[in-house]
Amino acid sequence: METVLSGIRSTGHLHLGNYFGALKNYIKMQDEYNCFFFIADLHSLTTHPHPDDFHSGVKTILTEYLASGLDPHKSAIFVQSDVPEIVELYVLLNMIAYKGELERTASFKEKIRKHPENVNAGLLTYPVLMAADILIHRANKVPVGKDQEQHLEIARLLARRFNNMYNAEVFPEPQAFNFGKDLVKVPGLDGSGKMGKSEGNGIYLFDDEKSIHKKVMKAVTDAGPTEPDSKMPEAVENLFTLLKIVSEPEVVQHFTAAYNNCSIRYGDLKKQLAADICRHTLPIKAKIEEIGRDDAFLRSVIKEGTEKARASASATLTEVKRAVGFRSF
Ligand code: AMP
Repeated sequence: METVLSGIRSTGHLHLGNYFGALKNYIKMQDEYNCFFFIADLHSLTTHPHPDDFHSGVKTILTEYLASGLDPHKSAIFVQSDVPEIVELYVLLNMIAYKGELERTASFKEKIRKHPENVNAGLLTYPVLMAADILIHRANKVPVGKDQEQHLEIARLLARRFNNMYNAEVFPEPQAFNFGKDLVKVPGLDGSGKMGKSEGNGIYLFDDEKSIHKKVMKAVTDAGPTEPDSKMPEAVENLFTLLKIVSEPEVVQHFTAAYNNCSIRYGDLKKQLAADICRHTLPIKAKIEEIGRDDAFLRSVIKEGTEKARASASATLTEVKRAVGFRSF
């Protein structure tokens, strides 16, 4: 059975993009692959979260993962910093990762541009830590968005370089998981681009009914079509894209026909869209609240996940250290 690995940084809440773009697919994968899902708390340190918020950030993502349907008995669900083997591999991979190639990654360049006051070494070696996350479980498949392709390329490069340098077949080269037709891009409600945490346009799984309605009612539209069958502007198209994701086909057909014959009222469309988003998210919100109160359950999930992750990680690290030349006295 192939191994799949995916992680998410422990900052903020999960939004509709994370849920429909990633998590729904992860839930399906649990039956077909040996899955590892982790919360990347070490990665989140590049932006220096306040110590008072650090643990709650981890708990939020863990709770929201579980409430969305990840099953701790099927997958290993763990926190990155609970698996010290990852950090050990990170140190070893740093020795074969070159400054120039790390400086050339698009995400590093973007971070320097956006936050010139905080260009720390952790940021430069972010792809090396990501490679360690993946390679420590010898994962074959990594479900990533297009923005992460370059990081995955570095993981492949380091896997190849390690195998060549130490003349050992320790690591497989991880490939991007291709969801094919199941891949959806969830747009934002601000007229352009995708829904994202840093874009500030997210509808979160944790949002209550009132704030979901408020966010949807504020979505950007235009004055409405004046000619039959006219092309939709991007903002309106985004609303229809969301509708296709959350609503029944008849609802989509109804509003598409109304748009095409110029009788559409965006207020009605938005009300329907908000109600249909709530239909998906409010049961998850209820579970988030329930699970969030159940510390004993969360502890047992992490215990089980950490055991599975450490068993897999220490087996890899033993081979890695043997290849590098570590010997005990
Ligand atoms: P991020 O929150 O950007 O760290 O992304 C975590 C996961 O959610 C990745 O697999 C992303 O590809 C996915 N994701 C984030 N935003 C969207 C979006 N708007 N549409 C589809 N997938 C998304």
